[in-house]
Amino acid sequence: MSAKDWMQKLSEASGVSGYEHSVRHLVIEAFRPYADEISVTAMGSIIALQRGVRAPSRSANQTPVPKVLVEGHMDEIGLMVTEIERGFIRFTQVGGFDVRVLPSQQVVVHGKRALPGIIGSRPPHVLSPEERQKVIPMSDLFIDVGLSEPVVRGLVQPGDLVTIARRMQSLKNNLVAGKAFDDRSAVVCVIEALRLLSTMKHACDVYAVANVQEEFGVFAGAATSTFAINPDIAIAVDVSHADQPDTSEVNAVPLDEGMGIATGPNIHPLVHARLVEIAEAREIPYRVTAYAGATGTNAWAMQVVRAGIPTGLIDIPLRYMHTSVETLALGDLERIGRLLADFCVSLDDQFLRELKGERNGGVEKPKARAKTRAGRAHTGRGTRKK
Ligand SMILES: [Zn+2]
Repeated sequence: MSAKDWMQKLSEASGVSGYEHSVRHLVIEAFRPYADEISVTAMGSIIALQRGVRAPSRSANQTPVPKVLVEGHMDEIGLMVTEIERGFIRFTQVGGFDVRVLPSQQVVVHGKRALPGIIGSRPPHVLSPEERQKVIPMSDLFIDVGLSEPVVRGLVQPGDLVTIARRMQSLKNNLVAGKAFDDRSAVVCVIEALRLLSTMKHACDVYAVANVQEEFGVFAGAATSTFAINPDIAIAVDVSHADQPDTSEVNAVPLDEGMGIATGPNIHPLVHARLVEIAEAREIPYRVTAYAGATGTNAWAMQVVRAGIPTGLIDIPLRYMHTSVETLALGDLERIGRLLADFCVSLDDQFLRELKGERNGGVEKPKARAKTRAGRAHTGRGTRKK
């Protein structure tokens, strides 16, 4: 299946943080052809191992085979039933929805069986002029499944989950729009990397991971799967803001012009430098995205697992984050998959030694440190747009 087909399949599946079972079997199906082993952690994250090819001279007592982890998170933001009021369903959220765009959404209520519904609100005719100007708070919204109160009560209870019902939509220029692209587009990048790596020779063991429970902020899926793997290097892939009208976001990366390669204290400088070096060598376009503190991604948790894991972060440019019309360029996903694969192939014992030297206060400096202008991103862009 193509990256587009996987994007559609994963986007249209449901899997709110903590309840990823529906999407999990699809991701396992995607990883399976390219994995030597697949396991699922107690939390529910998927770990697919593609073993490296050992050099014949490498004996058991030599340096262990390097382990590299590449991940995206497969959970999505969603809603949760709080109470039933005259047959209408009140709800709260799991993760941070854009409340402004909730009214009029089509949803699926995951009760005893899946029920189609819509999010309703009071009509504008009955609102005061002031009320019409305001964002409708979530507490004033409700879900209508068209059933009477006794029937709804028999099928739905507090704690049941609600997901947005949205088919992926193709736009011009190989763009697509839909829900849960945050962060299933990263899972597509990881699938793409694993597919490419299955045709390449690599010395390191590659752990492709689809993590659970990113969206409510404690990164529990990533922290626990990274602990289980104990990798030498970990790369997180997550969405970041793409350019669109009136965004002053400094890290905004244009769609279909590659990706962001993140830098900042959350990112190991040598891992960043190696990613930049590979992008330059392969003429894969990118921007440097600068984060002065927490990146707000799984990279934040992965970096501090065990005694510390050298971590990198790739940003997927995405418009309209946390809405049901998140928009991205499919070409960006393919390019990120290629960069991840080439990065894994490039890892050797020497790089890992350098990595340890840097962490131990050694003097090695990144070879290709990116040039950044006072807090701005947008540097070191690749030369050719693919
Ligand atoms: Zn998110």
